[in-house]
Amino acid sequence: MIERLKTKEFIAGIVPQTEPNGPALWFAFQRNNLLVSEESSSVTIPLLKDFSETGLPALSRNYLGLFDESPCYAVEVPEDASPPTGMSFQGLRQVYGRLEEDLFWIAAKAIQIVDWDRTHRFCGHCGVPMELQKVERAKKCPQCGLLHFPRLAPAIIVLIERGDRLLLARARRFPTAMYSVLAGFVEPGESLEETVAREVKEEVGLSLKDIRYFGSQPWPFPHSLMIGFTATYAGGEITLDDDEIVDAGWYTVDQLPPLPGKISIARKLIDWFIEKHKRPEEGLSKN
Ligand SMILES: [Zn+2]
Repeated sequence: MIERLKTKEFIAGIVPQTEPNGPALWFAFQRNNLLVSEESSSVTIPLLKDFSETGLPALSRNYLGLFDESPCYAVEVPEDASPPTGMSFQGLRQVYGRLEEDLFWIAAKAIQIVDWDRTHRFCGHCGVPMELQKVERAKKCPQCGLLHFPRLAPAIIVLIERGDRLLLARARRFPTAMYSVLAGFVEPGESLEETVAREVKEEVGLSLKDIRYFGSQPWPFPHSLMIGFTATYAGGEITLDDDEIVDAGWYTVDQLPPLPGKISIARKLIDWFIEKHKRPEEGLSKN
């Protein structure tokens, strides 16, 4: 039933451009859990001609695009449905590292589309059922014309450098004793650089300079877009915002606390800093 996918190209789309003839990839969610086929140490996405082959009902179905020429669909499954034999529903964090990375990020897109479709059925202004649009990912009210786009909450994340040290903090919301770089949501009316400066001032009381764009990453927990920056310490003493931060300090790369997992842009920022500051191998072997 499941075939290995060979190439890595994903072409996003709103409606299928051609009649499907091969099987499709079905990214089916029951609440926040993804339907996966279990293999020995990995999981895969069901590859089937039609979702009905799983025996599960579909509450909604949204086209996502083509992956390796296979159509991809996001599907919502009722909460009381049981997975078919050999399959299970698993959280996205649980499948990271066991599901092919390209498919993981399509699943991250799929869960946000399913969530948006479920929570934007009716117009917020006049209450009539919304209609899906065909040229862009949006829903339109047939009565008043109001448009709903999938909800995205932009958030900044910033690595602060001070010579050979970086700032790491333990947020109150972290479930474990992990330390990470600082992050926070963008407020209406702010530029991203202003958010970086405000969050850092609020959470640890420091001033910054040289705020530079690093990269971005979708973060589907539940619907963020993380926009990464690096910055240089410019002044101030660490003063914690007790509501959000439990501990914060300056760390060199050879004395790092427990760090976030590889899935996150936080870790990509920290790995970038480690790569920049680790001692060259040859320097060590000369002794
Ligand atoms: Zn309306």
